[in-house]
Amino acid sequence: MEITSQTGLMALIGDPVGHSKSPDMMNRAFQEMGLSYVYVAFQVKPHELRQAVEGLRALGVKGFNVTIPHKVEVMETLDELDASAREIGAVNMVMQTEGKWVGFNTDGMGYLRSLKEELNPDLKRARVILLGAGGAARAVGYALAQAGVESLTIANRTVEKAEALAEHLGRFTKTDAVPLGQAERAVKEATLVVNTTSVGMHPHVDETPIPIEWMHEGQIASDLIYVPRRTAWLQGAEARGAHIHAGMGMLIHQAAIAIEHWFQRKAPVPIMKEALIQSLSQPNAEL
Ligand code: NAP
Repeated sequence: MEITSQTGLMALIGDPVGHSKSPDMMNRAFQEMGLSYVYVAFQVKPHELRQAVEGLRALGVKGFNVTIPHKVEVMETLDELDASAREIGAVNMVMQTEGKWVGFNTDGMGYLRSLKEELNPDLKRARVILLGAGGAARAVGYALAQAGVESLTIANRTVEKAEALAEHLGRFTKTDAVPLGQAERAVKEATLVVNTTSVGMHPHVDETPIPIEWMHEGQIASDLIYVPRRTAWLQGAEARGAHIHAGMGMLIHQAAIAIEHWFQRKAPVPIMKEALIQSLSQPNAEL
C-alpha cells in the first residue's frame, strides 16, 4: 500500500508489544479492504499512558487497541465506556465518536463468535466450567453468561478470585466457584470446559491446567491459548473424544469486531487468519 498524506493511523498500545501479531492481521485486513490506513504497535510505559492516549486524540486517530498492562487503567483516560467494557471491567478497543473516546471490550464477543463459527454448541443448554479467573475469564465469562448458558462454574487456583467473578456474573446465570485442584466433579459434569489460564502456553507447552483424565467424550474443550496452536491439554482432550476449540479464532474475531466498529464494514476474517498463521510460523517469531 502506498502511504500518502491521506493515510490514517490506527494503533495498539501496550508494554511489551514487540511480540504482538495484531499489526500483521490488521494491516492485511486494511489492505484487503482497500483502506488507506496503517496499524502500528506502540510500547507505552504505564506512567505515560495518559499522555499517549491524549497524543492519539490530538493526532485525530480514529481508534486504537489496548493490551497488557493497560486494559484496566486506560478506562480512566476515556470519556465513555460501553456496557461490555463496564461489565468486564477492562477495555481492549477504543473508538473516537463525536470527539469522545469510547472504550469497548471485544474479547468476549470475539470468543463467542469463534466458538459458534467452529462448533456452534447449544449454549442455552451448556454447563460451563471456566478454568481461571483473570482478565480473559472475565471477558469470556461475561459473554457466555449473556448468551444464556445453563450454568457457569469458575475454578481458579486463587479461589477468592473465582468467588468474586462467580458473584459478579450471578446476575445473568447460575454460578458457583471451586478451587482449581478440586474441580474434578465440575469438569466431568460440564459440557463446555474453557481454559482461560496461561497454563500450557509457550514455552511451558507440556503443562496442562487440569489432568487430561478429567475430560471425556462429547465434551467441548476450549483453550484461549494460541501459542502453541493446539495445547497439550487440547490434544489430550481430543484423544479422549472431546471436540476441541483453540484460541486463534478468538484472537482473529476480537480484531474483526474492532474493525467493524471503526469502519462500519465487515472484516475479511479468512485473510486475517491467513496473515496470523503466516506470522506465527515465522522461524524467528518472538512469541
Ligand atoms: P491473567 O489475568 O494474568 O490471568 C491468569 C489466570 O491464569 C489466573 O486465573 C491465574 O490464576 C491462572 N494461572 C496462572 N498460572 C497458573 C498456574 N501455574 N496454575 C494455575 N493457574 C494459573 O491473564 P489473562 O489476560 O486472563 O490471560 C490468560 C490466558 O488467556 C493467556 O494464556 C492469554 O494468552 C490468553 N488469552 C488469549 C486471548 C485470545 O484472543 N485467544 C485473549 C486474551 C487472553 P491465579 O488467579 O490463581 O493467579
